Amino acid sequence: MKIICIGRNYVDHAKELNNPVPEKPIFFVKPDTALLRTHEFYLPPFSNDVHYELELVVKIMKVGKSINKKFAHKYYNEISLGLDLTARDLQKECKEKGLPWEIAKGFDSSAPIGKWYPKEELKTLDFYLLKNGLKVQEGNPSQMLFDVDTIIEYVSKFMTLKKGDLIYTGTPSGVGKMNAGDKFEAYLDSKKTLDLVVK
Ligand code: MG
Repeated sequence: MKIICIGRNYVDHAKELNNPVPEKPIFFVKPDTALLRTHEFYLPPFSNDVHYELELVVKIMKVGKSINKKFAHKYYNEISLGLDLTARDLQKECKEKGLPWEIAKGFDSSAPIGKWYPKEELKTLDFYLLKNGLKVQEGNPSQMLFDVDTIIEYVSKFMTLKKGDLIYTGTPSGVGKMNAGDKFEAYLDSKKTLDLVVK
């Protein structure tokens, strides 16, 4: 199982990190050891600036390679919310040196995942994140630069998608630092989908 993450898929988030808006989807992969299904996240010792990024996540339901956008919707049937946790200090160092991002993005437990819903069960795909009860991020896939079907077409040109693979589709603006004691709750279509306490 692999976790594919899309970067800079919302204009407002690309701007908040002073990144250019991409012409093609940007993606990177986290290993399966990044997945976190429990409700507790322990801050790692190698970073002083771990950021939350709330993202809509789709689960691939069958194997596919070079999938045409027209048929991409047949390759996923479940939707959830996840956090693409990022060691921003390490990422900054990697970016400055032109190095790969794995240590900043792929560390253990860097991909908390919420509850899954069949896509036909959801009336809207509006989502938001509360940090200690205050709304810090909100989004809807209509604001994405590249929609889910375009992402599936693009990624599957390079990598075969397999049943159970997850695609984290990018974060809207409002990302920020996680501190010990913080409590995060994420809602999709007004349903509580993910909650996480930072230790
Ligand atoms: Mg992200």
